[in-house]
Amino acid sequence: MFAHIRNRLTMLYSGIMVLFLVTFIIVSYAGLIWVLYHEEQRDVQAITEEEAREHVLILKQPEVLPHSGGQEGYNNEGKIFYYVFGENGNQVFRAEPASDLRLNVRDIIQNWNERDGEARLKIFSLPSGESAFVMMCSKKIYDGDHFLGTVFVGEDLTAYYQMLKKLMVMLFAVAIVFLLIAAFIGHTLAGRAIIPIKQSFLRQREFAADASHELRTPLSVLMTSVDVVQTDDESNLSTFSSQVLADMKSEIKRMSKLVSDLLILARGDAGVTTMNKEKFNLYNVGEQVIRILQPAAIEKGIKLELSGINNINVYADKERMKQLLLILIDNAIKYTADGGTVILLLKMVNGLKQAVNITVQDNGAGIPKEQQQLIFERFYRIDKARSREEGGTGLGLSIAKWIAEAHGGAIRVESVPGIGSSFIVTFPM
Ligand code: ADP
Repeated sequence: MFAHIRNRLTMLYSGIMVLFLVTFIIVSYAGLIWVLYHEEQRDVQAITEEEAREHVLILKQPEVLPHSGGQEGYNNEGKIFYYVFGENGNQVFRAEPASDLRLNVRDIIQNWNERDGEARLKIFSLPSGESAFVMMCSKKIYDGDHFLGTVFVGEDLTAYYQMLKKLMVMLFAVAIVFLLIAAFIGHTLAGRAIIPIKQSFLRQREFAADASHELRTPLSVLMTSVDVVQTDDESNLSTFSSQVLADMKSEIKRMSKLVSDLLILARGDAGVTTMNKEKFNLYNVGEQVIRILQPAAIEKGIKLELSGINNINVYADKERMKQLLLILIDNAIKYTADGGTVILLLKMVNGLKQAVNITVQDNGAGIPKEQQQLIFERFYRIDKARSREEGGTGLGLSIAKWIAEAHGGAIRVESVPGIGSSFIVTFPM
């Protein structure tokens, strides 16, 4: 149980950490891209303005212009490039980008329809399969009102993009490392946090076991004393005193049952109960339990039946199995109206593994859907007064559940109010 709480705390802690780290990475990465984008956009727009201004004079003297787009050297390995076109669209100057970008850049220029002076990011794929990123801008060149030509300026941002990609991978790698460290720290801290809870829980469990154990002796002394008084002074006692003694005896019996039920559960919780498993025929145990409870059934006019195969050899704790059958059949008799029927059905089922199936079926009061899970909790009773009247402690089904689980099995209920209930226990052979 504590390992489960510890793991859940660690998962919660790591989950919050993942959320925090991923949000941090996304926000800072998006912020970085935004800043870079606007910075580069501004840069390229500024260079375009400058080139347009510089080329006014040159374009005004057509006699000095080269005939077919003279190449001008830009000492930046083609990172920044530009093309100048004259008034009739012929290329007059160029400083070209890296060779693998040229075709696409020319294509972009041919299809350019952005606003004058506005830089735009253009993305295209290279023959190598990689993506290329260029920020481009165009500006019309005027001398007063006279149109002289157009300049296109671009900047190759592919290297930035690749750097950002590497940064992203690195950030995620760092995040994973941090997450592992956080999970480790979280696990250690959760372990420390539950130490006091664990200690107080264990103390409480010990207390329940000790208290139930210590209560048994005075209760049996009380019982014997009442017996002695009853046999000794029967003739001298008034009717009232006899009734008081009888009531005392019944309350002591109830309390002894409660204490012994509590002790079973407390010992089960503390893990000190060992299952004395042996091979036996479950059908014979079923017959024995039916014999024990037959008088109670007859008293209420209830038909108590045993059905199923008469040779089910199981490997289990015989006494605990008997106790489980006693609890379920006793409940079925208690919560079924006079004249009803209770059936104990024993069979084997073949699933992934061979399993034993015990069903106790009655046509009694039934259990509302919303209470079907709650009845297995300690001291939970649908009708407290009725349970008390019937001598119930509210611990029977908790013990039945514990026995089923201690055998690697499970217990469940199928019930329709007013029609009846079936308690089904399944455990592996
Ligand atoms: P109790 O000692 O009160 O019988 P249990 O743990 O055995 O305690 O059962 C818990 C509650 O489940 C009971 O108080 C009763 O309300 C309900 N219950 C158990 N068995 C049946 C049944 N066969 N039919 C209807 N209700 C049942």
